[in-house]
Amino acid sequence: MTTPRPVLIAGGGIGGLTTAIALDRAGLDTHVLERSAFTEESGAGIQLGPNVTRILRALGVLDPLLPQTFRPDAVWLFDGMSGKKIATVPLGAVAERRYGAPYITVHRADLHKALRTVAATGERIALTPNFTVAQIDDVDGADGAGIAGPGGETLQAPRLIGADGLWSTVRRWVAPGTAPSFTGATAFRSLLPRETLPEPFSAPVVGLWLGPRGHVVHYPVRGGAALNVVAVTESGHEEQGWNRSAPRETVLGAFARWCDAPLGLLEAAPDWRAWSLFALQPLPQWHRGAAVLLGDAAHPVLPYLAQGAGLAIEDAAKLAALMGAARERPAAAYRAYETIRRPRARRIQQTSRRLGRAYHMGDTILGDVFRISRNAILGLRGETATLRSSIGSMVHRVRRGSANPVSGDFPP
Ligand SMILES: Cc1cc2nc3c(=O)[nH]c(=O)nc-3n(C[C@H](O)[C@H](O)[C@H](O)COP(=O)(O)OP(=O)(O)OC[C@H]3O[C@@H](n4cnc5c(N)ncnc54)[C@H](O)[C@@H]3O)c2cc1C
Repeated sequence: MTTPRPVLIAGGGIGGLTTAIALDRAGLDTHVLERSAFTEESGAGIQLGPNVTRILRALGVLDPLLPQTFRPDAVWLFDGMSGKKIATVPLGAVAERRYGAPYITVHRADLHKALRTVAATGERIALTPNFTVAQIDDVDGADGAGIAGPGGETLQAPRLIGADGLWSTVRRWVAPGTAPSFTGATAFRSLLPRETLPEPFSAPVVGLWLGPRGHVVHYPVRGGAALNVVAVTESGHEEQGWNRSAPRETVLGAFARWCDAPLGLLEAAPDWRAWSLFALQPLPQWHRGAAVLLGDAAHPVLPYLAQGAGLAIEDAAKLAALMGAARERPAAAYRAYETIRRPRARRIQQTSRRLGRAYHMGDTILGDVFRISRNAILGLRGETATLRSSIGSMVHRVRRGSANPVSGDFPP
């Protein structure tokens, strides 16, 4: 009997590690190749809705992660110019009862570490750090995927999953000629100790401040010890990477016309990191031969709906379930995966972009009229209606006997 060769996974970020864990549960061997040392501390906060925490729970990742997470009671929306609170979206126990799993906020490094720890215990998972997938070869050949590392070393496998993020090398093979383009917006982020902050920044909530051509979002991470602050502005320049340092004056300058409360928070931040926001046109296909893409490699999303990591985790669970259910028909599994996941990713991409436009209204006289109308509409809506139209548009309400989130609905 020959030992089955493992599925190669390019990229050991959020989506790659989740895929390895889910494939391990489905009985498939994987080999994750990650270009970093796997101990990346950079990054900041990530929000995960019940659609995602259900999956993490089913994979045994949620319980060890919970002590590092925070469960916000609500989202509070403010007008960044007047400081007025315009709406509340209940989360906490209300959302958990309705959707059957918690809404949590977490530092990306804590989520990544929890995934890595669970993956390291997986019997069928091999993790190789410091391996940059440099080239893909012969993916259509009988041997499946061949990949080359930076020093020319090669690996062959029947299947290759491209979970290598926004600047994916595997995507260059699956969908040649496609590349992300700069949106003109920049996200600045910082972490502050939470204990010294005044209300409303010390409140156990996600705070969202909307203003002309920008917004500020903050929420507790690290079990509540720190406040993650992200300030997004429609300005800045194009640069790859998640972690370049940004001058304080640039951030404060972009929000100079805002009211005192959010400005005070930005002034209190010790330092800033910037990342340029990129978008990608829908790919002609997500798979080719033995290779398939997931997460940011297939469909990066703008952060306005806070669903980037969530989508990658959903992709991972669905792809693994389908591959596990159709071991002898991998091409059918890839096709079913793309059929199921493409409309979902598209909808989240479009909703994110739409939300960004609504968040950033008010830089012209007409925009100001829209801003005031937006605030009035949000203020008049009941809390449950706001919950349904925000979280509820992404998450199915739990029904008794509903399917395991990690199982795949495999079309014939
Ligand atoms: C260091 C870092 C910090 C981030 N910080 C934030 C944040 O603060 N807030 C936020 O909302 N999102 C952040 N993101 C993005 C967020 O994690 C992703 O949008 C989301 O998790 C989608 O997951 P993914 O698995 O598709 O991509 P990622 O989680 O980005 O994972 C991609 C992985 O592939 C690896 N990789 C890339 N190219 C290669 C290659 N050629 N060979 C081998 N490995 C490769 C990368 O090192 C990375 O580990 C960050 C991403 C990174 C890598």
